[in-house]
Amino acid sequence: MTRVHNFSAGPAALPETVLRKAAEEMLDWHGSGMSVMEMSHRGKEFIAIHAEAERLLRELLVIPANYKVLFMQGGAIGENAIVPMNMLRGKAGADYVDTGEWSKKSIKEAKKYGAIKIAASAADSGYTTIPKRDTWKLDPDAAYVHICSNETIGGVEYHFTPEVGSVPLVADMSSDILSRPVDVSKYGLIYGGAQKNIGPAGLTIVIVRDDLLGQAHPFTPDAFNYKLQADNDSMLNTPPTYAIYIAGLVFNWIKDQGGLTAMAEHNRVKAALLYDYLDSTGFYRSPVARDCRSLMNVPFKLKDEALDDVFLKGAQARGMVQLKGHRSVGGMRASIYNAMPIAGVQALVAYMKEFEASHG
Ligand SMILES: *Cc1c(COP(=O)(O)O)cnc(C)c1O
Repeated sequence: MTRVHNFSAGPAALPETVLRKAAEEMLDWHGSGMSVMEMSHRGKEFIAIHAEAERLLRELLVIPANYKVLFMQGGAIGENAIVPMNMLRGKAGADYVDTGEWSKKSIKEAKKYGAIKIAASAADSGYTTIPKRDTWKLDPDAAYVHICSNETIGGVEYHFTPEVGSVPLVADMSSDILSRPVDVSKYGLIYGGAQKNIGPAGLTIVIVRDDLLGQAHPFTPDAFNYKLQADNDSMLNTPPTYAIYIAGLVFNWIKDQGGLTAMAEHNRVKAALLYDYLDSTGFYRSPVARDCRSLMNVPFKLKDEALDDVFLKGAQARGMVQLKGHRSVGGMRASIYNAMPIAGVQALVAYMKEFEASHG
């Protein structure tokens, strides 16, 4: 068996120890004689798995008691609609900060449900920056302020938590959740699809302050009503049971690594290896402003894009896959989430140097 270094933006690499544990438990979870996939979501075995996953997530993120943790479905793209349905709470609209492809998708969807204003946009910079907080035009009557904490495609990330007064801050954290400590109390709601930094696709995590619940628009589907899901321990409908189980194993793995402070340091070291090299050469370049660079998704370009395919083929031959940039930006993108070991980034940088030496 050979495992590659998988730089996919999502679904993304999982820690090998998690996959091994899942393999070990595949046919018989803890003497139950069943795979987790075969369990009733209302049985005592799965209820224990679910409760443990929530407990670990609360511990890792230090989630205050007045926040609900929901394990839902529909992905972050589903949340683009589910958030306004639940969070407009009778108000006319909400403020959105536009930092790239994912914020644009959130804005477009939210416009179906309310009067959405763009509080700030990084369009002028070609989405290579995060607009400075003092340039944002916020409406004090907005139902919430929406940000995308890490733009998975453009590779820009917030390295600060914006102060937005008493209006709830809502964040799409799909691609940097659990990569570093976060002060959850500064947010009204945090959401994210699991398939970047948590586990398999199909699970969506929602963390929401409980005073914001109970005012969903009447047309909100029950399965996507936060209050109903919170009242039913996320079991109003059948939850994505296997994905929740794997997420629990990943949470446990993060805890074993030393929690989010250790994760943040591990991620900082990996990203620095790559960015320091990019900045030291004219052969490759990072398009993103230095103070806004993502520690999770590192887009980069070759000076001569005619070499892109040769670069990708050589990477593949060395066991490094999924480095092709998103079709909307071109070039390369290395996604280096929690589960990417330092050795993977070292191998990438070594190959980039070798490629520069032979093609520069
Ligand atoms: C991947 C991603 C999404 C889309 O998630 P789906 O699970 O496909 O709905 C949305 N926002 C961000 C920031 C992402 O990285």
